[in-house]
Amino acid sequence: MAVVETRELSKHFGDVKAVDGVDLRTEEGEFLVLLGPSGCGKTTLLRMIAGLEEPTEGEVLIGGEVVNGLPPRARRIAMVFQSYALYPHMTVFRNIAFPLKAQGMDPAAREEKVEWAAKLLDLESLLQRRPRNLSGGERQRVALARAIVREPTVFLLDEPLSNLDAKLRAAARDDLLSFQRGLGITALYVTHDQVEAMGMGDRIAVMNKGKVRQFGKPEDVYHNPADTFVATFLGSPPMNLLEYQDFLIGFRPEHLLPVGVEQDGERTPFTFHVNRVENLGSERFLYGHLEDFAPDKRVIAMLPSTVTMPIPPDQSHSFVVALNRIRFFDKETGLRIEAQKL
Ligand code: ATP
Repeated sequence: MAVVETRELSKHFGDVKAVDGVDLRTEEGEFLVLLGPSGCGKTTLLRMIAGLEEPTEGEVLIGGEVVNGLPPRARRIAMVFQSYALYPHMTVFRNIAFPLKAQGMDPAAREEKVEWAAKLLDLESLLQRRPRNLSGGERQRVALARAIVREPTVFLLDEPLSNLDAKLRAAARDDLLSFQRGLGITALYVTHDQVEAMGMGDRIAVMNKGKVRQFGKPEDVYHNPADTFVATFLGSPPMNLLEYQDFLIGFRPEHLLPVGVEQDGERTPFTFHVNRVENLGSERFLYGHLEDFAPDKRVIAMLPSTVTMPIPPDQSHSFVVALNRIRFFDKETGLRIEAQKL
């Protein structure tokens, strides 16, 4: 196990600031997710930690030691990519054994190690197959097995589940987490999928344009976003944001509820004109606008299936948002500010 730290870490490609002064520090054995849209610098950040990319500025520390200048091999890290990059002409056994062979380990010790990893990842019956005869989920497990045989202290994972279909993905998420917890290895996990980030991360670093916009526990990042970018990047549908006087107000779709639904504390009433209703079974989405408040801005409400009252479209309905669910943001900077009077 080891703590990974970056200090003022930057990478510039010409004029592009791919990573721009990132300070992060994991806990021992933590599962830390780097979340952000395509091009925000997640992969570049991970590659600098791995030693595959030279930083323009700043430091990378693993286990308290600065590793800038050390080659990937000397960093005791294992990296798993989206593509897995398995060798197609080698059996699963030889794929997993490959890094050990490259390291010069003798065949008997190698075999023992491969068997250990295969058992951990439930690959024992597949050792003689070639990658093309494996399912996506199995290939992913082979890539993980190959990554752990060198007993890394840190796992770097770059969208390793994105090739799996939705159903397999949920199972693979679960397997990957219990595997990481079992070994107690610190993991940094890159994704642009906020569901994955919320479900897997002990903490999430939300990135945009090379910078970390917020770093915190999933529930904190979700409920108390640092700015409007985080507020709308997390959550599906995203937080509703409406201009009001000199600031913006935000509330999540699940917090806009019809009058009569049990809610704690003080509430703000809104007249919600519903244009369209989408019933997805587990929840109902209502699309419309708040009549007296922001008639030009689309607002979405999300009702759980337990709220069964009829809400016909093309009509106005009395809705409320609990005051403690409303967030306020600066109109200019987008940063969250303290609660204002409505
Ligand atoms: P994705 O989710 O699409 O992989 P990402 O968040 O991982 O995106 P990076 O791959 O780190 O983003 O890229 C960050 C920025 O740096 C992008 O604008 C990208 O075009 C640029 N970039 C990355 N690598 C290079 C390179 N070798 N040369 C020039 N620009 C690069």
